[in-house]
Amino acid sequence: MARLGTETAFEVLAKAKRLESQGRRIVHLEIGEPDFETPHHIVAAAVQALQDGWHHYTPSAGIPALREAIAEHISRTRMITVSPDQVVVTPGAKPIIFFSLLALIQKDDEVIFPNPGFPIYESMIRFAGGTPVPAPLREELEFRMDVDEVIKLATPRTKMIILNSPNNPTGSALDEHDLEKLAAAFQGKDIFFFSDEIYSQITYDCQALSIASLRGMQAQTIILDGFSKTYAMTGWRLGYGALPSPELAAQITKLMINSNSCTAAFTQMAGVAALTGDHAPVRQMVETFRGRRDRVVKLLNEIPGVSCRLPRGAFYVFPNVKSFSRKSSDLATLLLNEAGVAVLSGTAFGRYGEGYLRLSYATSMESLEEGIGKIAEALGRLK
Ligand code: PLP
Repeated sequence: MARLGTETAFEVLAKAKRLESQGRRIVHLEIGEPDFETPHHIVAAAVQALQDGWHHYTPSAGIPALREAIAEHISRTRMITVSPDQVVVTPGAKPIIFFSLLALIQKDDEVIFPNPGFPIYESMIRFAGGTPVPAPLREELEFRMDVDEVIKLATPRTKMIILNSPNNPTGSALDEHDLEKLAAAFQGKDIFFFSDEIYSQITYDCQALSIASLRGMQAQTIILDGFSKTYAMTGWRLGYGALPSPELAAQITKLMINSNSCTAAFTQMAGVAALTGDHAPVRQMVETFRGRRDRVVKLLNEIPGVSCRLPRGAFYVFPNVKSFSRKSSDLATLLLNEAGVAVLSGTAFGRYGEGYLRLSYATSMESLEEGIGKIAEALGRLK
């Protein structure tokens, strides 16, 4: 248990809620979930499924109709051929991280992962007994992974390389050149890529690229994707992995059998509706995010001592606050206690997040403007 880490976002949320229960007004910029409701046709499909009697266990890897829809979606969007027996449906996408690391990482195997990055990677690498090897995401490279450095970090003990593009917390996205270099260096080696593509449909000035799309790379790539972010379905708990082979999918399914048995039946039926139905609400949501992103970046850059890059995907900004010469975690605490704005310290995503804060713009423009106004005032008092 001591090897398990945590996700600070849930802790900051609890702290902010406690302050709210004491009567304080708090602006929430910490939470990584769309503030939109799940599109109506998806909700209607779930209601219909419940009325039609989808009340029971399903196959552990998922209902065939959903696995087929996922296989078709991944095949089309990544320009590869995925069959339904390579797909495992899980309650949220997170279990795919958990299961893949448990299945593939043994004691002392090295796993290269993005830092700052989603904290569950490092937590699960350690839990599985592996050795986490952070690959720093640096602002000079627009927070993209430095693939030359990744190549140098690899040793004969490297078993897996985790990619996350678009990235949480920085909003960066790997480009074609990055992926080609990685593929050239690692294709055919006994190394898996774990490609977390949960934000693949939330991009602005680029299209999300998958390393699995590069020739020969599908055979060593696990794709994680899901419904939480794209369809504003965080509370439904629905995600999936597209595995390189039916054999590995069978192993991951064994972990499903030993833990969840299956994902909720009516939720899976909603997933079919999400993938096969109208995507106009998704496009509209992404356009709204784009407007907020532009405004938030502009407002942050107007604060003396703060600089913020324009993210290319997801719904986070990662402003540089190094000029205040304070630990990021202290700044985040100060902003919550003194300004009533909940944000995350960059270090909640690993030590290379020092000097940065993460703000989520998955909230209304009014809250964003109010929150950033209060941040500006509080930081102004520090100068
Ligand atoms: N991967 C990344 C990078 C995330 O940011 C998240 C959620 O915050 C997940 C995976 C997990 O998504 P889910 O809510 O579907 O489990």
